[in-house]
Amino acid sequence: MAKLTSEQRRTLERHLMERRAELVKKVRAATDSAKTDNITSVAGEVGDPGDESMAAQFVDLNLTEAQTELRELRAIEEAFSRLADNTYGYCTECGGEIPYARLEAYPTAERCTECQTRHERVYGGRDVTPSL
Ligand SMILES: [Zn+2]
Repeated sequence: MAKLTSEQRRTLERHLMERRAELVKKVRAATDSAKTDNITSVAGEVGDPGDESMAAQFVDLNLTEAQTELRELRAIEEAFSRLADNTYGYCTECGGEIPYARLEAYPTAERCTECQTRHERVYGGRDVTPSL
């Protein structure tokens, strides 16, 4: 375990649990509306056959949003398992300690700032735990 006090650890666990509850709610809402707003009912309400593809896009959008949330949920589960085996707070690439400020901002962070910056340069874009 990195130099986390038990209080810091508790704070981070609480952040993770709150975020997980929030995400579960969002995913549920997104999948529910994807089910209810199926192509026929949305297109039926609009009453214009030309809007059918728009309805399909709308359903896709909901699922894409849920996918982002599902990815973050997975990151949260991974953070919990790192907490369980005491590797939480250490960078998965260089093994260095992840600063508490970074963990507080991104409790699912699995890399230190330097490794995250390098990761972003290699893979492009920002993931759920950006370096900044
Ligand atoms: Zn690192």
